[in-house]
Amino acid sequence: MVDVPTIKISARGATRLKAGHVWVYRSDINSADSIPPGSVVTVSDQRGKPLGTALYSSSSQIAVRMLSHQPVSDLPALLRSRISDAIAYREKLVRDTDAYRLIFSEADLIPGLIVDRYHDIVSLQVLTQAIDRNPIRETVISELVSRLGPASVVERVDPRVRELETLPPRASGLVHGSKTATNFTMNGVEFYFDALEGQKTGAFLDQRENYAAAAQYAHGQALDVFCYQGGFALHLARVCDTVTGVDSSRPALEVADQNATLNRRQVEWIEANAFDLLKDYAASGKLYDTIVLDPPAFAKTKRDLDSALRGYKELNLRALKMLRPSGILVTCTCSYHVSQAHFLEMLASAALDAHRIIRVLEIRGQAKDHPVVLSIPETGYLKCVIGYVS
Ligand code: SAH
Repeated sequence: MVDVPTIKISARGATRLKAGHVWVYRSDINSADSIPPGSVVTVSDQRGKPLGTALYSSSSQIAVRMLSHQPVSDLPALLRSRISDAIAYREKLVRDTDAYRLIFSEADLIPGLIVDRYHDIVSLQVLTQAIDRNPIRETVISELVSRLGPASVVERVDPRVRELETLPPRASGLVHGSKTATNFTMNGVEFYFDALEGQKTGAFLDQRENYAAAAQYAHGQALDVFCYQGGFALHLARVCDTVTGVDSSRPALEVADQNATLNRRQVEWIEANAFDLLKDYAASGKLYDTIVLDPPAFAKTKRDLDSALRGYKELNLRALKMLRPSGILVTCTCSYHVSQAHFLEMLASAALDAHRIIRVLEIRGQAKDHPVVLSIPETGYLKCVIGYVS
């Protein structure tokens, strides 16, 4: 490639890369004044020794995301081979679904790109300046179309991400084909998918394997708190006597109800603030055999950790009090900043306060189509504990 600018990074930045991470923070960069936003760059250490090829952002605190430890002479060819590897990984490891994450950014060595597949619709999210630029953007879209032959490809835009990356605003929309809605199946349960509706990118595909695991232990009367479009609730409805789903989002519950009809299941949906509802239910002595807690991320930054843990504890404490003996608790956190150790400690403390014993049946993470790369801890964020509560 011609004219690849070089960015020199500090010793601290170089140590991080040598440990297998792919990010260099802005504070570890000497100067990058003349480098255009979204450029492909060569990264070198203080002495000028090249460390590899990366994508540069002029606005993010994560200024550099490594692509390769080698010089890259043909970027489109590299992208095509990364996409090919990502597809091969899913072909080997993803089962019982036609909806899964096909490219998970850093974990698939294409930092800044997320691609999900929902049956015949491909949904992509661009998270950085570099991925938004050609040749990357066009190469990715044309490769996805030629490899997968989808009915359509939709770009989902998070306006906040574009703002942070100082990219011009753009609306979500079709980039190939014309189909915007479809049905997909996971573990034999069917779901609607509308590619352009709502704030979310679709389903929470990262919980797919946890739905199936939860259904192995769930029984009796079940409560799915933070149910969104019914992911856990509809899996539980196959094995439980009654299922109630709770969420504060009416649009999410409307889709949840359509999903229940699609699967010919009866689920009661309640629009409520989960904290208030659990408080009322616990006070009025309501009991369940199975409770799922899958709240949004409470710790968006490291600074939120303590208040997040208090939030998780309050929810888990209430749920533990509402479980009948031999009950099943499925409790999740999708906060990267809440480690598995933090989460288990919080849960132990909630059990102590509730005078209950939790026997751990499973400690789980995100589904395998959201791979966790050990040297990039930020790729792992979801924790899901299934406990037997007596
Ligand atoms: N369990 C779901 C995903 C849950 S995502 C699944 O597997 O698909 C978190 C959900 O919490 C969102 O649907 C959001 O609408 C809901 N939510 C956020 N704050 C809430 C609150 N205070 N009370 C109830 N629901 C809330």
